[in-house]
Amino acid sequence: MYCTYCVITLRDASGAHVSMSPTMPCNAPGSPYKVQITQPNSNNGDSEILTQLMTHVADQFNKAFKVEEMKSEISSRLTALERKLEIEGLKAVEIEKCKKDISEIKDQIWTAQKKYVDFNRMRLCICYKPMFCLYTLSQETIDYLKQPTFDIWHWEPNEMLSLLEHMFHELKLVKEFNINPITLKRWLLCVQENYRNNPFHNFRHCFCVTQMMYGMIHLCNLQKHVSIEEIGILIVASICHDLDHPGYNNTYQINARTELAIRYNDISPLENHHCAVAFQIASNPETNIFSNVDKESFKRIRAGITQLILATDMARHSEIIETFKSKLDGKFDFKNKENIDTLKMVLIKCCDISNEVRPMEVSEPWVDCLLEEYFNQSDREKSEGLPVAPFMDRDKVTKPSAQIGFIKFVLIPMFETVARLFPQIEEQMVIPLKGSRDRQRKSDMENKGNNSFKLLSPPVLVLCPLIVCVASK
Ligand SMILES: [Zn+2]
Repeated sequence: MYCTYCVITLRDASGAHVSMSPTMPCNAPGSPYKVQITQPNSNNGDSEILTQLMTHVADQFNKAFKVEEMKSEISSRLTALERKLEIEGLKAVEIEKCKKDISEIKDQIWTAQKKYVDFNRMRLCICYKPMFCLYTLSQETIDYLKQPTFDIWHWEPNEMLSLLEHMFHELKLVKEFNINPITLKRWLLCVQENYRNNPFHNFRHCFCVTQMMYGMIHLCNLQKHVSIEEIGILIVASICHDLDHPGYNNTYQINARTELAIRYNDISPLENHHCAVAFQIASNPETNIFSNVDKESFKRIRAGITQLILATDMARHSEIIETFKSKLDGKFDFKNKENIDTLKMVLIKCCDISNEVRPMEVSEPWVDCLLEEYFNQSDREKSEGLPVAPFMDRDKVTKPSAQIGFIKFVLIPMFETVARLFPQIEEQMVIPLKGSRDRQRKSDMENKGNNSFKLLSPPVLVLCPLIVCVASK
């Protein structure tokens, strides 16, 4: 109970304080020392409390200092955090801005897509490019343009546009449809923009087909037999007939179940698409060459163009040729709408596959272009595990062998049929075709002689699948 804070004092009999040490005098039984134990007085207690208090205060001070230290640390951490937040906040604002920009761009694309072309691909067809300049065409070029021998490789894209423009004026289509010449230029540019850079199905092919159509219109003196509106349908359909061709044919579209095949239920997916793109372009007032024709005329023109573009599907070859032949068997009446429709379909088909009618130096490069496109397709089909047509397979086809069957079974019979109606075709087109066939035969024989050819079974000696069925007839 006294422990730490008790004072022990030794006193003698007189009450004097005896110093406790080894030298202190001994006491005796008669005079014993007295031991006095004294409790700490109040002063001592106060001091102790004070000490305790001071310690406590010191502790508190200490803590207080620590708190200050912590405070400053927290404060500096807080500042760092605030700075970080500020930066992050800025970043967040930037991200929000980017998001907004992206959504605006998406809207623009969507609007443009809806307004102009293409469900499948987003090719904005409106052309704000400067207009192509008007080339002054020499009389020689103007005359040459009407010939099937015209060298279509000689011209730059802008020159081809000018040549097409010239055809519109020369055939009096600008007058017939009351086309604003600027709209015509915009329309031509827009069409050109909507041809892809495929090895074969590109803008030059479009020009080629149209130039041949222009040549045939003159060669057959068609203006004497049909209206200018029909001539316009033939020219516009030729220009638009492969718009936005993806470079893979209908068989691929159907087998790969592409969006186009699904949209058009496997029925001429490409031709339907070319046609839809053509009228998407015409739906924009800036590029509508038919904006000044009346409603009834537009209805006829639209139906005519659609019919011709859809007729370019080679799957319909036999059907169209047979119908045409049946019309020829009686007296062909140019006033009969059905006759004219069939004739127009045959004409666009002739032009679409007319490369072999042209001189060898013009036609040959096209075979390479077509084979390149075919090989691209067959490579893709192989990689996607889809069926591959032998005439497209780089391991199975050779150039001359590919052409012979096509010229023999498709081109010559078709042009000979048209020559029944227009005999001038024989000399200008059938004879060159036969020349081409003989040349290819010779080349094929040489290949076989050199033993460097790739052997094909007869049904695949063709460039086009339909020949297999034509040949088997
Ligand atoms: Zn074509």
